[in-house]
Amino acid sequence: MEDYIKVNQTIITLIQGDITKVTADVIVNAANTSLLGGGGVDGAIHKAGGKSILEECVKIRERQGGCAVGEAVITTAGNLPASHVIHTVGPVWNGGNNNEIEKLKSCYRKSLSLASEYKAKSIAFPNISTGIYRFPKQLAAETALEALFDYLNPMSVEQATIEQIYFVCFDDVNFNIFRNKLVNAL
Ligand code: ADP
Repeated sequence: MEDYIKVNQTIITLIQGDITKVTADVIVNAANTSLLGGGGVDGAIHKAGGKSILEECVKIRERQGGCAVGEAVITTAGNLPASHVIHTVGPVWNGGNNNEIEKLKSCYRKSLSLASEYKAKSIAFPNISTGIYRFPKQLAAETALEALFDYLNPMSVEQATIEQIYFVCFDDVNFNIFRNKLVNAL
């Protein structure tokens, strides 16, 4: 089942499932600062994408020493049905007093900017920080959508390349939260 809404010229679609199976120009990875892979969606992306993604991450790490929280870097996508993977590092939830909301917003904003730079037409996001990093799921969904709406409204020349944004929810809790939010946004 797919739910979607349209913001300006961009369609936002909700999918439940495994992001490594989603066909999109860019797939976003919820990475960690080392860029060397981990559990959760990070592990799934490296496993399905093959070792070329990790090799590129290692090169980025040698060049700039990993990736800071709230930042994003880009690699090719190996065996995934995508052209590129954007690796962004979400904040670890620490009670909310450590700028976690701003940092999470920054992940979405920087990923969208980078995808636009690469002329991507479609981009798929997982629910960044809501697994091992323990960001409360309701708040994470609100933050993700706010970042998205800020980016799409008003429409800028920069974001004009992105026609389709997928939110790929792996677990039922996130999926139901997003479905309620999108239904309410209709
Ligand atoms: P973080 O460290 O940013 O919390 P996790 O990978 O632990 O990253 O979790 C982020 C989200 O990704 C969680 O909501 C989790 O359910 C989801 N997730 C795990 N595996 C996949 C997958 N294969 N596809 C999409 N989402 C996934």
